[in-house]
Amino acid sequence: MTKTVQIDGSLMEGGGSIVRNAIALSALLKKPVKIRNIRAKRSKPGLRNQHLHVVKAIGKICQAEIEGAFIGSQCISFIPGETRGGTFQIDVQTAGSLTLLLQALIPVASFAPEPVKLLLKGGTDVPMAPPFDFFKNVYLFTLQKLGLDVTVCLGHRGHYPKGGGIISCDIDPIDRLKPISFDGTKNCNPLQIKGIAHAVQLPCHIAERMLSSAATFLQKKGYQLGKLKKDCPEQKYDPHIGPGTGITLWAETDCGTFLSGSGLGKKGLPAETVGESAAKELHNQLQTKCPVDYHLADQLILWMAIVPSPSVIKTSKITLHTLTNIAIVKRFIDINFQVDGAEGTMGVIRSEVNESSLLSG
Ligand code: ATP
Repeated sequence: MTKTVQIDGSLMEGGGSIVRNAIALSALLKKPVKIRNIRAKRSKPGLRNQHLHVVKAIGKICQAEIEGAFIGSQCISFIPGETRGGTFQIDVQTAGSLTLLLQALIPVASFAPEPVKLLLKGGTDVPMAPPFDFFKNVYLFTLQKLGLDVTVCLGHRGHYPKGGGIISCDIDPIDRLKPISFDGTKNCNPLQIKGIAHAVQLPCHIAERMLSSAATFLQKKGYQLGKLKKDCPEQKYDPHIGPGTGITLWAETDCGTFLSGSGLGKKGLPAETVGESAAKELHNQLQTKCPVDYHLADQLILWMAIVPSPSVIKTSKITLHTLTNIAIVKRFIDINFQVDGAEGTMGVIRSEVNESSLLSG
């Protein structure tokens, strides 16, 4: 029997990513895990709805034995079984983020012996989580470069607090993964910037104003603009539970990568402010000339343990999330990480796995 990996959930960032990464790695590597002090650094510690659904969904796919899976739980034990394919329906019930759920499920589902189809209901564009358009155009685009075959389809958008967003996702078994090599040895310059602003159960001029303030800012800085789209259902027939609005911008670079800036609308916050702040976030990242978006960087750490080694990424900002995810991966697998750069600044992260890779068994 493989030894149980012990995780202290109060480590570093002390948030939900620790749970998602640890459960995904447990299922992938077939190593039982026990997580204590779950989300100890959050004002309401313990599992929230979103994390609980991640644990349960991964548990279903890999037929795990689970203890402590309830709202508020600060300690869970997870013993993974065999991963299987098939169709899985998951309703998070609240506005819990479906993109965070998917980022934990996809690595596991990719190693199932048959295709996995996920039918999901919850939040698609919620605070402190990847917006759907980032997930599709930055995260999934990068996974395709690693050799993954994942297609995603947005039915409805779901916002805080009502949720009700619908996403379907098809994940084919991995054939061959490619190494992660976004080394940034050359400066990465933007080719063109694209974006989507949406407004559901709200007037479309909100999305239009977000786009126009973002475009004005980016044009002043001299960027080449590609398609900036608005996504607004006709108000009379709008099926969303909403209301909600937001903008995601992404820039393709000549290093073959995408960086992003995004924002969500809030009552009392002018649409122009949201659009300009998303544009500023993107501009600040592009100025570093790095290939990897700082949110994407923390989301790639888990993959660095799975793809053929060695891996390298140069990111516009090393975050506590990234450093925390590195610490979690190291609890599961014999892997060296070298981080050149301080937290909050741009930097290079290299990894080398010392164990035989997952794919070679
Ligand atoms: P907690 O509730 O404990 O804070 P959580 O489960 O909501 O936890 P975090 O641990 O804070 O989540 O992780 C949030 C994840 O969402 C990180 O991977 C982060 O990079 C990502 N993220 C947040 N905002 C964005 C954004 N605007 N674009 C892309 N990714 C984002």
